Amino acid sequence: MIACLGRIVHDSDAESKLDDDVSTIFNSLNLQGSIENGDVSGIASKDFGGLYSVKPLYLIRPSGAEDISRVVKAAAGTPHLTVAARGNGHSINGQAMADGGYVIDMRSTGENHFKLLTVNGSPCIDVSGGALWEDVLRRCVSRFGLAPRSWTDYLSLTVGGTLSNAGVSGQAFRYGPQTSNVTELEVVTGKGDITVCSETQNPELFFGALGGLGQFGIITRARVKLQLAPDMVRWIRVVYAEFEEFTRDAEFLVSQKEDESFDYVEGFVFCNNDDPVNGWPSVQLNPDQEFNPAHLPQTAGPVLYFLELAFHYRNSDQPSTVDMAVSRLVGGLGFVDGLISQVDVSYMGFLLRVKRAEQDAKANGVWDNPHPWLNLFVSKSDIVEFDQTVFKKMVKNGIGGPMLIYPLLRSKWDSRTSVALPEGEIFYIVALLRFVPKGPSVEKKVAENREIVKWCIKEGLDFKLYLPHYRAKEDWKRHFGNQWTRFEKRKANFDPMAILAPGQRIFKRTNQ
Ligand code: FAD
Repeated sequence: MIACLGRIVHDSDAESKLDDDVSTIFNSLNLQGSIENGDVSGIASKDFGGLYSVKPLYLIRPSGAEDISRVVKAAAGTPHLTVAARGNGHSINGQAMADGGYVIDMRSTGENHFKLLTVNGSPCIDVSGGALWEDVLRRCVSRFGLAPRSWTDYLSLTVGGTLSNAGVSGQAFRYGPQTSNVTELEVVTGKGDITVCSETQNPELFFGALGGLGQFGIITRARVKLQLAPDMVRWIRVVYAEFEEFTRDAEFLVSQKEDESFDYVEGFVFCNNDDPVNGWPSVQLNPDQEFNPAHLPQTAGPVLYFLELAFHYRNSDQPSTVDMAVSRLVGGLGFVDGLISQVDVSYMGFLLRVKRAEQDAKANGVWDNPHPWLNLFVSKSDIVEFDQTVFKKMVKNGIGGPMLIYPLLRSKWDSRTSVALPEGEIFYIVALLRFVPKGPSVEKKVAENREIVKWCIKEGLDFKLYLPHYRAKEDWKRHFGNQWTRFEKRKANFDPMAILAPGQRIFKRTNQ
């Protein structure tokens, strides 16, 4: 009992000492926002992956770029201190964490900017790096009838978080990733400088920060290109038994001119069985339509494929005109007869489709499971081999979550950004989005991902990890290939003491 009391007294002493520390640091930083102690169970020590946890020193909720600049400058003056911007913490491998460092909760700046502009005759919106894309969508559509052109599938991600990677979805074949759809950034560099940059103003910082994994600066504002938002979307899924037919149609659709294709093209792999998560029931968009496996050819293997397509239209369009346009596009495809599913939904309903899946997954308790996800870009030249080994063998029984595969065009990406891509004009994004119950199977799935990457390297596949995660410098060098020198130079210019984004584990903090 006495021992117990002793501990309580000791703990409360420690707590008040920490409170003193917090107010001292708050005052010395002269913050407009707020600061609290790092906590092992707090948001800054967790991410969506659920695989890693580290304790930060402080969690800071800045009011804007000036606060962020002060924090970075203060970290520069203290040996070993690092700073991680945390968007919405939807990384998998601790990328937005800072062990013993400052974590900046960018969400507190989410409302900072929201200004419509016309640049060279085209509409753009200035938004905060800490804004959620779903809020950008809602506000742009409801206030201006406009919307960004390029998305991610899930929109509870921050502008700065996805721009630091690439930001890819089914519109990227036409407009490029989100990194190809911004014209200006405001960035707080690793020296604490608040710098506006664009293609013509500080271009090294602009292109460095895009896809830069947070290494060169913290994005506090982005200027995003907009287009007229459609009212409605015809959302379609068509099923393929053969990989060659699936890829032929997918590549055909992404290579067509704007008015000769869909507005969104993605693809998925699923199991040829009645498993509710991994199999046939996962395909149908309309619960009233059943997947009828009798349509499948005898030759169908353990996995099947579907293309997910979207056609935009306006409320004022005649239904017959929409039907005709969709029929013409679908009519050119070689999917399995009878295996088509379609619904009409609002444009916002379509873009927020994963939000609904999130709500369902939260309701049945699987959303918060660990997520040992693996995302890769694989060159068209190696995608058949990848399908044969990975989809048809390694994960043929499903992964307890979606498996995505769809083509992208390299010409829509700007090679001046920091994103590393495979060679060749067409490459595929492959995403294995596992939801794994807590326990020993998590480590097994992490190991399975490692095996896939090892196999890609061993076979000499032309591939890159997307949302990359490596620990060794040698792996990072291989990842960036001939872009490594440029990446290192940018680091030396904009964050010479390697203060920023330590959770990426690319550079070690130095004191010079
Ligand atoms: P965080 O995870 O918080 O941060 C990611 C990295 O960026 C960290 O290193 C962090 O330090 C840095 N960072 C964060 N904010 C800033 C900033 N303002 N300036 C500089 N650096 C910053 N990605 C796609 O491309 N397409 C998809 O369709 C897609 N779907 C997804 C669906 C789900 C359910 C999830 C969980 C993720 C998905 N992602 C997708 C991946 C997502 O783009 C990345 O995980 C992204 O990093 C998450 O954004 P975030 O705002 O949570 O960033």
